[in-house]
Amino acid sequence: MQVRTSICRSCNAFCPVDVTVVQERVIKVAGDGRAPLYHGYTCPKGRALPRLHNHPDRLLTSLKRQADGSFKPISSADLIDEIGDKIGALLEKHGPRSISTYLSGAVLEQPAASAMMISFLEALGSPMLFTAATIDQPGSSISYALHGKWLGGRIRPENRDVYMVVGGNPINSKQYLPQNPGLQIKAMRKRGAKVIVIDPRRTETARLADIHLQPIPGEDPAILAGLIHLIIAEGGVNRVFVETNARGLEQLTQAVRPFTPHYVAARAGIDETQLRTVARVLRDANTGDLGLGTGPSMATRGILSSYLALCLNTLRGFWASEGDEAMHPSVLLPRREFKAQPSPPRPAWGFGEKTRIRGFEETAAGMPVAALPEEILTPGEGQVRALFLHGGVLLTWPQQSKTIEALRALDLLITHDIVLSPTARMANYVIATKMQFELPAFTLLNEIVGAAGHSGYGYADPFAFCQPALVEPPAGSDLLEAWQTYYRVAKKLGLRLKITNWRTEAREKPLIDMEHEPTTEQIYDLMCTGSAIPLQQVRQYPDGHIFEHAREKVRPRDRDCGDRFELANPDMMAELRLVASESILGRRKTDAEFPFLLISSRMQNSTNSFFRVPGVVKWGYNPAFMNPNDMKHLGLRSGDEVEIRSRHGTVTAFVEEDAGLRPGVIAQMHGFGGSPGSGYDPRRDGTNVNQLTAWSDDYEPHTGMPRMGALPVAVTAARRSSKEPNHR
Ligand code: SF4
Repeated sequence: MQVRTSICRSCNAFCPVDVTVVQERVIKVAGDGRAPLYHGYTCPKGRALPRLHNHPDRLLTSLKRQADGSFKPISSADLIDEIGDKIGALLEKHGPRSISTYLSGAVLEQPAASAMMISFLEALGSPMLFTAATIDQPGSSISYALHGKWLGGRIRPENRDVYMVVGGNPINSKQYLPQNPGLQIKAMRKRGAKVIVIDPRRTETARLADIHLQPIPGEDPAILAGLIHLIIAEGGVNRVFVETNARGLEQLTQAVRPFTPHYVAARAGIDETQLRTVARVLRDANTGDLGLGTGPSMATRGILSSYLALCLNTLRGFWASEGDEAMHPSVLLPRREFKAQPSPPRPAWGFGEKTRIRGFEETAAGMPVAALPEEILTPGEGQVRALFLHGGVLLTWPQQSKTIEALRALDLLITHDIVLSPTARMANYVIATKMQFELPAFTLLNEIVGAAGHSGYGYADPFAFCQPALVEPPAGSDLLEAWQTYYRVAKKLGLRLKITNWRTEAREKPLIDMEHEPTTEQIYDLMCTGSAIPLQQVRQYPDGHIFEHAREKVRPRDRDCGDRFELANPDMMAELRLVASESILGRRKTDAEFPFLLISSRMQNSTNSFFRVPGVVKWGYNPAFMNPNDMKHLGLRSGDEVEIRSRHGTVTAFVEEDAGLRPGVIAQMHGFGGSPGSGYDPRRDGTNVNQLTAWSDDYEPHTGMPRMGALPVAVTAARRSSKEPNHR
């Protein structure tokens, strides 16, 4: 028996773990108490990894779909040969744009895959790279483009007087406080900092907060505009900061004028005094930060909410000051300078690849996934015909029927998976991949997301981890690492790949040896070219390490810096005017037929789209949580089967009580269920909430992200629970 260290890669928290291995078999995962930052934290998903590694349904060879829909094993060599031939033929006949790829969080455990996939697409000349970023929180990167980004970064958690999270639940999602979020929140409060949560649910995070506002879902833009209104009206604007670093205060002041506390409180169904209290806490704090979860994004107008949150931060001057220690210093990325000055806004759209669908185009968040199903289904030049998938899109993309139609229409669908998942069942080839402890572990992806994309991830401190694989794949298996698909197909096509390492100009990208296949560790080395700390040095620390000499101070503003944040982006101001002038009920779309609003929620013991090990999720499925009074009114009790109906579809679900949920709201987790006609059982597999959504429903005009939360629904009893729910 050996106990060795690694990191859990089932979510972006990347918790360091002690892994017990007996005869090449992972038998136990526990928190690594010696690792800095995390204090030994793990969640049930991480501790269930041995069951995932040793699961009897695990694919040990890749599969090829037969004409009758069944699957037969195929060797890695034949697989690459066949895929290479098919991609070559499509390229010749239809050009590079016919080849596309999709990345989701599933790639976390295969960090080299994203770099190699991007290199592969670049070598092909295809712009068709899609990621989950445009159906999750596209507003986080787009709002930075519209507002500008502070080059000194955010204020570190230990320096904040106030921390406000809107529509997010860091305790479960780990977003914004990735390393042991509960401990971080308690530490903030112990120091006297105030924690504010705005969420229709009394979430695990809300239970630890000083103030919890529990609004009607979908009213985040109105609440944020109302807080800005109060900050301005009550003298809370940090005049020195704003006059030096921003423009547009006058227009923003005008735009938020209709959002009086009385109007916002009535509209959002919250207490006006509580709203004023939140504004006062923000106003009186010298330092702070705001974070938006997926709630505001899924409830439509996510870009506006993210933009207003940045404006609020700027009005208060909640950005790191000269001399502060910087958040997100580089370790595995090349070193970067932090400066107490804004970078100006940049184009959020209008600069890149155009799609053929509804005028959608590349945005600061990437190519819009909203265009992909129609890009596959719409004939003509540029039609997408092949898709390399990483992620369970059948369960996670909106409007499942459209996803099924699009995936069926492809000439070639290739998925990477560890089991024959509902999405994999639609593929022509299912590439059986290694699992996380069979791969070397390193933290670069987390650092990239934190430093470049989303302030909710990454490391406040210069922490990094890199350790080798812990176990060999099962004897007799024939598995690939996801990056090898792209490398080997590229080699067959005679392409030369350059590794993408995110901080280097195209001309500097290191070439990959196409004659002798590199090891994964060598790929990692290439990905870390020019890193602040050499990867070899990071490898010396089995528990990860904080590299003290990589800490960075925020430097003074450049003497000639004239850049300013934009507080009054015309698109955002126009949307805010629309919010102020619209019919609230007309927008909310609840009525006698659809009286409830369904929101997405997370469960601590479940991922949204990864394969779930039976027994880890308490119920096995994703219950529809309701307020007990709503259930009583409908004559429901826990475990009862119900029908949930939206204007776009109907699903079967099972209700559970949540006394912390706002009345009139249903909370249910995404990513469960199966495809219609596949024999899935909602009691066993859960409910696919995306059968209730439609791409055309209140979609964001630039990203195409439709209404996926604050979804008007009806609930009717279907069957009384005759026995206890299936607690497996
Ligand atoms: S929070 Fe859980 S799933 Fe995420 S990395 Fe840590 S142990 Fe793994």
